[in-house]
Amino acid sequence: MKITFCGAARTVTGSCYLLEYEDKKFLVDCGLFQGNKAIKEHNYGEFPFNPAEIDFVILTHAHIDHSGLLPKLCKHGFNNPIYTTPATIALCEILLPDSGYIQEMEVERKNKKLTRAGKKLLEPIYTAADAMTMQHLFSPVEYNQSFSPVEGMEITLRDAGHILGSAMAAVNYRENNEKYKILFTGDLGRNDQVLIEDPFIVDRCDFLVIESTYGNRLHTGGFEVEKPHFAKIINDTIASGGNVIIPAFAVDRTQDVLMMIYEMQKENLIKEYPVYVDSPLAIKATEIFASSLECFDEESKQLCDVEGKAPFILDNLTFTPTSEESMRLNQIKGAIIISASGMADAGRIKHHLKNNLWRKESSVVFFGYQAEGALGRRLIDKEKKVTIHGADIEVKANIYNMDGFSAHADYEEMLEWLSHCKQLPNQMFVTHGDEESALAFADKVKEKYNVPIIVPYLGDVVELKMDGVKVVDKKDFATLVIDDNLLADINITLQKITANQDIDKLIRIRDFLKNIS
Ligand SMILES: [Zn+2]
Ligand SMILES: [Zn+2]
Repeated sequence: MKITFCGAARTVTGSCYLLEYEDKKFLVDCGLFQGNKAIKEHNYGEFPFNPAEIDFVILTHAHIDHSGLLPKLCKHGFNNPIYTTPATIALCEILLPDSGYIQEMEVERKNKKLTRAGKKLLEPIYTAADAMTMQHLFSPVEYNQSFSPVEGMEITLRDAGHILGSAMAAVNYRENNEKYKILFTGDLGRNDQVLIEDPFIVDRCDFLVIESTYGNRLHTGGFEVEKPHFAKIINDTIASGGNVIIPAFAVDRTQDVLMMIYEMQKENLIKEYPVYVDSPLAIKATEIFASSLECFDEESKQLCDVEGKAPFILDNLTFTPTSEESMRLNQIKGAIIISASGMADAGRIKHHLKNNLWRKESSVVFFGYQAEGALGRRLIDKEKKVTIHGADIEVKANIYNMDGFSAHADYEEMLEWLSHCKQLPNQMFVTHGDEESALAFADKVKEKYNVPIIVPYLGDVVELKMDGVKVVDKKDFATLVIDDNLLADINITLQKITANQDIDKLIRIRDFLKNIS
């Protein structure tokens, strides 16, 4: 068995592993690269394999950094089953066309500039239509039910406790009359999340591919810690006639926030104030959550029985799918408005911020990670003036940042999860984390368990053997990864050159950059 690390290697996004077993080839995940320009370039290049030769795909969960290049894979010749859980399929049905639409918009914007410059136009990685036409390839597999896509191999999906439908993939296979098991954690969730089950405890595996998003960080806060604080914010804001604006990711965080509101209402910490979910994607996702009760933990299932419906479908909840309904919320006072995107960079949330940031009686509550440069980040960094849709807005509303709401296990939680393995793996691979985070986590595991660990580079090919695993080859990734530091260096150099008016050097650098891009 060989594994090629085609993504999420020393970086978080673009999860994709190519596995070669006898004459078969298959993928675990086929995700989009997200982040800075250089990382996103990987989405445009050719795959380091021929999509038409892939026999099947196993998809761990619906997040775009795991599923987002599936439509591209199909566009380039893949036409075989994609095995995953029913909830993941339902979420992919809305998330992938949405991602296609975003690609189309991005290219349209770039093409306007290219047209003006008289340059060759770009094509989107895939369109919303591409993402719709591949949906029939999804093949549902329930948790804990083994299936055998090829002879000599059995695969079982286990609940990863990360988001609705998320799975770890256990791949059991035979080689030279020996049995082996590789486990891919996908994204590893946490115990006691609001709605879903805890991550499945694995008793043994020979090879383990584990994520490391929080490989060097610990979570603080969490709902139980923040609940009284959150309730007070809501009560105070609404008492003074303001709105509580909550930027939230459409999948998962929106439903978590609704569930928190449900609990606070039940415990009489807050009254049944009007709650609006104003994002077409979040509305669809909430409906999928409400019909995927089989994925919930026991406590949430019991609540569904008591309420006769999913508890987060509050009696005081209104969905506003159309833009007219959304616009009507501009006049509203004393309400809780949940909208996407979670980092306040796109989507309808921007309208609500535009309408509320200047009001000292309103509040904005963030619940998730805010990337450098995002509007959400600037607000939690207490910037006093922001520009939204071309208008300068003075920030007078109260801005809050709730900590500890990640769907990823932190390093202590991952080590704890590993401690339940009765037999530790022969070899581990640490992926899906920034380099610093992945290396730090590898050190922590080595210190505690003394297991051989590889932190693979993008394109590394390894052969799995019980007597030692090593990198046997390296697939070429055409794009050069320029990190932020290198980019800053290039900028400084260019500024110095232009200051010296050394145009020859500038032209040489331009030609060099042209060649590598
Ligand atoms: Zn994820
Ligand atoms: Zn991920």
